Amino acid sequence: MNRKYKEIDTIIRGLNRATDAHFKWLVKVLRFVASRDVELPEITCGEAHNHCEFGGWLNEQLAAEGVDRNYLLDIHKKHIAVHQACRQLITDLECASQRQRHFDRFETALLAFTDSLTRYKVHLLQLRTSYDALTGLPLRRILDESFDSMTAQYSENGLYLMLLDVDHFKKINDTYGHLVGDTVLRSLAINLEDNIRRDESVYRYGGEEFIILLQAGSDRAAAVAAERLRQAIAAAETVSGEHRIRITFSAGLTRVHRDEPLREVLERADMALYKGKKSGRNCTILINRRLDCLNVSV
Ligand code: GH3
Ligand code: MG
Ligand code: MG
Repeated sequence: MNRKYKEIDTIIRGLNRATDAHFKWLVKVLRFVASRDVELPEITCGEAHNHCEFGGWLNEQLAAEGVDRNYLLDIHKKHIAVHQACRQLITDLECASQRQRHFDRFETALLAFTDSLTRYKVHLLQLRTSYDALTGLPLRRILDESFDSMTAQYSENGLYLMLLDVDHFKKINDTYGHLVGDTVLRSLAINLEDNIRRDESVYRYGGEEFIILLQAGSDRAAAVAAERLRQAIAAAETVSGEHRIRITFSAGLTRVHRDEPLREVLERADMALYKGKKSGRNCTILINRRLDCLNVSV
């Protein structure tokens, strides 16, 4: 399963747990007010926000320096405000003239805190929809959004786009059923990810079509990388019950030139893929900007 997709799920789970912990903290506050028999650093200490379970989770997230830093910093600010408002309320609880004001402040701080949490959660859930639920791979939307910055970053050293389509996949569904077809697509995604370099990416383009961005300094190097992938997939077996299923794919491979729009690159790769299907499948067709095609499979 794709690393980023798993990370998002882990963050959502952690956020849910930490939010629950803050509800428990509120109950602790009530208990504390009722008995006041123990000192609880997560309530009374000046740095109380660092002592509660939520604070522990938040500090870990902030230390990780991920891309969600702005959301986390806002939550951090609101979280500190909750603890401060709570401490002031508890300190002045006996003072009837101040009490109402402190209750209001505490309520406002709590609402701002949950609002900030909700914003982060919505962001994470939206991000999650950019990943395919079946394979965990990023969907085309992520490629669309990141393509220009990726070409700027990598095209100097050589970036290639490989568009691949599983051969006769309909037959897999017809023979073994759609659920087994799903399992085959899931193992294909895992195998593709296992066979690319760490800074290369696989995307689910749709159905049984995938896109891979390969880094290679020449047509020859790109062809070698693409062929290695094709052969690895052709050699792999998906085991489902008593079935051992093998698949092959056909692919169109083309260099990504600097400042070239994704649409153009895709059109070219698609043309090559079509040629691959026409010339017997289970092959990689390299296509250049003049639309010359070369079957690089041996
Ligand atoms: P070709 O070699 O020409 O590509 O033949 P094909 O059978 O792979 O192509 P076709 O476009 O006729 O069929 C693609 C099939 O992929 C049909 C569709 O039901 C199946 N498919 C697409 N997405 C999924 C999915 O998520 N799960 C499953 N099980 N099947 C899917
Ligand atoms: Mg297809
Ligand atoms: Mg197909």
